[in-house]
Amino acid sequence: MSGSSATPGPASAPGSASEAASSSSSSSSVDTLIELRELTRVFAAERDWQQFHTPKNLAMALSVEVAELVEHFQWLRTGSSEELDERKREGIQHELADVLLYLVQLADATGVDLRAAALEKLRLNGEKYPAAVVKGDARKYDEY
Ligand SMILES: [Mg+2]
Repeated sequence: MSGSSATPGPASAPGSASEAASSSSSSSSVDTLIELRELTRVFAAERDWQQFHTPKNLAMALSVEVAELVEHFQWLRTGSSEELDERKREGIQHELADVLLYLVQLADATGVDLRAAALEKLRLNGEKYPAAVVKGDARKYDEY
């Protein structure tokens, strides 16, 4: 999957996704997910890759990137920081970025407002797992 990861390359023309990424990295007033969505749109358009970005293909790419992330933790005892060297940390960082970028693109392709959906799910999870009931308990909601 490394050949098709949605990561902006180092060399690009003015107005490109890479330029936008470097010039807006300190902005705090823009919704970060919307900013990332716009950057992935530009990145794909510059390469005429929108034709490949069907919801099915994006879902599969997301799944592959999650597997690449998980691979960095495979066979470690816990994956806590003392088990991670610099190379592993960098690999995890790159795969987390790939996961986020494909997640943003999949949400875009399916018309999901990712921020609103996440806030809604947090609210629903809060109802399903009231802190006063589940504090310190990792069981699933139907096991109480
Ligand atoms: Mg990757």
